[in-house]
Amino acid sequence: MLSNLLNFSGGPGALPPSVLEQTQCAIAALPDTGLSILGMSHRSEWFKALLQEAQDNIRSLLDVPDRYHILFLQGGSSLQFSMIPMNFAAAATAPAEFVASGYWSRKAIGEAKAVVNAHTVWDGAAGGYRNLPAWGDLERSARAPFFHYVSNETVEGLQFSGAPSAIGVPLIADMSSDFLSRRFDIGDYAMVYAHAQKNLGPAGVTVALIDEALLSRIPSGLPPMLDYRTHVEHGSNYNTPPVFSIYVLNLVSRWLRDEVGGLDAIEHLNQRKAGMLYQALERQRQMIEVHADVAARSSMNVAFRFRDESLQGLFLAEANAAGFSGLEGHRSIGGLRASLYNAVSEEAVRQLADHVDDFARRHG
Ligand SMILES: *Cc1c(COP(=O)(O)O)cnc(C)c1O
Repeated sequence: MLSNLLNFSGGPGALPPSVLEQTQCAIAALPDTGLSILGMSHRSEWFKALLQEAQDNIRSLLDVPDRYHILFLQGGSSLQFSMIPMNFAAAATAPAEFVASGYWSRKAIGEAKAVVNAHTVWDGAAGGYRNLPAWGDLERSARAPFFHYVSNETVEGLQFSGAPSAIGVPLIADMSSDFLSRRFDIGDYAMVYAHAQKNLGPAGVTVALIDEALLSRIPSGLPPMLDYRTHVEHGSNYNTPPVFSIYVLNLVSRWLRDEVGGLDAIEHLNQRKAGMLYQALERQRQMIEVHADVAARSSMNVAFRFRDESLQGLFLAEANAAGFSGLEGHRSIGGLRASLYNAVSEEAVRQLADHVDDFARRHG
């Protein structure tokens, strides 16, 4: 039997046990309304209060100033790959600029190119997407309508340690796989976005934080659903929002604040978890190779492979038999990947590290 506690899936990812319990009750009937969450109207006062609370919780966890709108959107992070250039680069005279650090940033670039002019300022292809650039080394244009990067490359397990500073053009980050896993200064960004299904809840909702100043760049004539102003004006309630997903996201935000103790606490926990697993993999380095160079390693996704490929299937089969799940690597690079999202406990990571050591002892 697989176990929720040992779910290392790359996404949708593990959710905290207390959130799963409350969600089960809410599907039967919400304690405060008597109705199932699955049948709650998005026009109810109850839902309006939920939207407000989810926003307030994100705002207070991250100290987000009022000038940023906090939106709940649909279409996943992938739709942002199109909406961002359509909204913020349509009238630009210079190309939008991107870092190509792995699978997801390359997807973002490909989709931007379908609608605007896009320029890749750095591409990690030559290094096999195992490392990241130093911000100071990039040649960027001061005329770019925006500069986009992916803070955590979910597939390759690469994570930037922080934002580039004072770059002079609007900075936009896809934080889908590390949003609310550590503290960052929203003031460095014009926009950040993250779908829920890696660290914040189930699939179906994408959180976007957008500086009010950026909205003035939006051209007229966009389809309303693809125009950020529509969602700002309607408080993320223009058409039927994913009520259930937002409900669970709000429970996760309460869990993070009340049970975990906020962003500094989760950041320390995530560092301990990642340290424990990387150490186990390094102990077995004759047998196992970590994909990312040391300086670029992610605290959220640990991509690795067995040097002897025939051991990979055996490792997975034994892991599954022991209750672990989600350890298959992304189809684009193969190998294995353990995702250590917020809801994956330190105890679960300890068990995985022990499993790696034990496997190496028996098959080394
Ligand atoms: C998973 C992922 C995506 C894709 O998100 P969808 O919601 O499936 O569109 C985009 N960016 C990053 C960094 C991801 O990890």
